[in-house]
Amino acid sequence: MDTILIVDDTKTNIDLLLELLSDYDLVVATDGRSALQIAAQEKIGMILLDIMMPEMDGFEVCEYLKSSLKTKDIPVIFITARVDEESIEKGYELGGVDYVTKPFKPKELLAKVKTHFKMSKLIEELNHMASHDQMTGIYNRGKFFEKATKLFDEGDSLMAVMIDIDDFKKINDTYGHPFGDKVIKAVVQEIRSLLDEDAVFGRLGGEEFAIVAHFSKREKGYAKIEQIRSAIEHLVISNEDASQSVTVSIGVAEQTAQTQDIDMLLKEADEALYEVKASGKNSVALRTR
Ligand code: GH3
Ligand code: MG
Ligand code: MG
Repeated sequence: MDTILIVDDTKTNIDLLLELLSDYDLVVATDGRSALQIAAQEKIGMILLDIMMPEMDGFEVCEYLKSSLKTKDIPVIFITARVDEESIEKGYELGGVDYVTKPFKPKELLAKVKTHFKMSKLIEELNHMASHDQMTGIYNRGKFFEKATKLFDEGDSLMAVMIDIDDFKKINDTYGHPFGDKVIKAVVQEIRSLLDEDAVFGRLGGEEFAIVAHFSKREKGYAKIEQIRSAIEHLVISNEDASQSVTVSIGVAEQTAQTQDIDMLLKEADEALYEVKASGKNSVALRTR
């Protein structure tokens, strides 16, 4: 259920909104500071924000909300007695999606809440579509590089892993494209189930995937990658008239003092992958310099 956070320091205003919005899940804060705390801790879908409050006013609250990754996308609707144009302009400038003046028209406010919920869900959907591969649900190429770069900038001992399904063209040619799609999905699901939450995993193209992750110990990293290769080898993908297993070739590169950027690390993993392809496939190779 959609949760709305109502922020107001006047009880009569709060009561009015609680009654009007009773179809929604409602949370109340009577000052700016507790509003920020609630927004950071709970799953809030929208904020109705009063402006005139003691200590921290609504503008300041909105500014804080928009500056934090966790709360910046929550739509904020100002509900206020301030009707001057400067305040209205400021409300939008600070990131509010709407500005309603008191006394408000109940049905109009309800309609606005409904519309903004619809829009924010649409934006969320579009953001997801723009960053994920539709078929497998993992990061697409663009988002993978963005996330991988971020991980690279955050620390050291990163490992890059390039994975390519072996002789995949033959699978398509033999069993048809839909079966090929099924293979890709099964391989991705298998890899995903073996990876830690914080590993960055994406589809770079066709039947090629990449992972970047921190491993506390390099032996642990290799064991994990070999586990992935072996698990895929033992997968059996079936439909009504076919049953087939596949293998993958995997290239690995490790970050060292010489690794200048994420592109270099991924390129090294790709070179290791190429070596595996050239020497018989279905195995893991580490790129050494
Ligand atoms: P290698 O072992 O050297 O990797 O050979 P391969 O056949 O796996 O590689 P190649 O790059 O020659 O062929 C990959 C094929 O994957 C070609 C392309 O038509 C197919 N492909 C790319 N994307 C998709 C997809 O989304 N679904 C299906 N079914 N096939 C795809
Ligand atoms: Mg291939
Ligand atoms: Mg390929």
